[in-house]
Amino acid sequence: MIYRYPSYCRSFKCIADKCTDSCCIGWEIDIDPQTLAKYKAMDGALGEKLRRCTDDSGFILTPDERCPFLDERGLCELILSIGEDSLCRICTEHPRYYEWFDGVKEGGIGLCCEAAAELILKNDHILCCDDIPEDDGAECDNELFELLCKAREDITAHIMRDELPAAMRYVLGYAEALQDNIDSGEYVLPDKAYDIIPEPADIKAMIDFLSKLEAADSRWIPYISDCALRASEKHVYSGDDIYLKRIAVYFVYRYFLKGVSDGEILSKVRLAVISTGIIGYLVSCSKTQEFCDILHAAKSYSKEIEYSSENLEALYDAFYDMDIFGASAAAGLFDLL
Ligand code: SF4
Repeated sequence: MIYRYPSYCRSFKCIADKCTDSCCIGWEIDIDPQTLAKYKAMDGALGEKLRRCTDDSGFILTPDERCPFLDERGLCELILSIGEDSLCRICTEHPRYYEWFDGVKEGGIGLCCEAAAELILKNDHILCCDDIPEDDGAECDNELFELLCKAREDITAHIMRDELPAAMRYVLGYAEALQDNIDSGEYVLPDKAYDIIPEPADIKAMIDFLSKLEAADSRWIPYISDCALRASEKHVYSGDDIYLKRIAVYFVYRYFLKGVSDGEILSKVRLAVISTGIIGYLVSCSKTQEFCDILHAAKSYSKEIEYSSENLEALYDAFYDMDIFGASAAAGLFDLL
């Protein structure tokens, strides 16, 4: 089986106590049954604490929502006392993600983690392939898989090559043309992208929608609400476009091939475009617009929207139900920046 992943994943390392938004705080941490059994069988003071601080599904967070094994310095007591091999599957893998196809496994690291986000923003998206021992691949429509792999390359190339607003218009129109081909049973790349005429984006309404979703972090709603309040002001994104392009490519890489399972690619492309546009807008509202502001906006958005299946599902639904998330409005987002 082939394992494909962006080359920057090789450099990923958790920054532990240097992390300003630890995934060991505020997240439920499930423990896989095998590790849980191992924990329950441990002896000594650590075994006693493991039994006291876990239940059948995972770690019992402290009242301030910290993992009970995160010490006051921000280091993991389990790693310090019995080594990294002792960690449960989620703690070992986070923020890595995987997707399985027939004979191909794809992976990456998630934008919700600040160490991963820094690598995603600072590095070109270059894919590596390794041969790995047979894994549990997933049967899929291989013809559609091949088509979507080629389409994803096209989309990625356009994002990286063109000016940002033109690139976003192109990929939205390309996705609409490709979706028509798929729906009519023609598994071919479109000859040309449909024309998408940008409409003024209602960023205030978009952010109002996001602020009604359940927030994982109490700082999120005040952050985006403040940006929404200033929607009538003129904002200019003064960061380097390369960062927004890499964010768009991240979303395309991670979500586009999920269309293999349902033949639906429009919402995946819209997710990439709208997420990039909103992140760009959040950055444009910050005073300094330095790299740390881009990192903060990208990581926070990812944590709240991408890493909540309910919120992501609500946004996918809104792409179809709400005009403010239509293709023209999505294209219009980039005229705000
Ligand atoms: S969010 Fe990333 S860098 Fe921070 S503690 Fe978790 S894995 Fe480490």
